[in-house]
Amino acid sequence: MNNELLAIGGIVGIIIFLAVVWYMKRLEYKRYKNDTLYDAQWLWDWQGRNIVGLWCYCPTCKGALSFDDTLCKTTSKLGEKITYLIFTHCDSGQVAQIKGGDRRYVLNLVQREILRKTQTKISVLQKDKNEP
Ligand SMILES: [Zn+2]
Repeated sequence: MNNELLAIGGIVGIIIFLAVVWYMKRLEYKRYKNDTLYDAQWLWDWQGRNIVGLWCYCPTCKGALSFDDTLCKTTSKLGEKITYLIFTHCDSGQVAQIKGGDRRYVLNLVQREILRKTQTKISVLQKDKNEP
């Protein structure tokens, strides 16, 4: 009888521990809300596991950048499709250029990169926890 109680207590303890670890990990990736990718500063928010409000900013003055993907409409070859991230209010001018598609493609690309990094961060945390 006492052994059973001990076993139940142990299981409850493990469940509580796992819940706390899960909660900490959740907070960790929710704090990851900006990064420098493709030479531009990106900011976003989390809604559940989805990235919302993703936009790029000038790394020098933090002003919001705009996309110039007019070149994408004039060619059908992927290698020639280039989207420029531009800023006209400071000396930076053209901040970055990304090959392969238009602004939708660029936003998708950056989102995938952020999600990939989020996964990496989570697995790095797990490795830390497992080390003696
Ligand atoms: Zn700037």
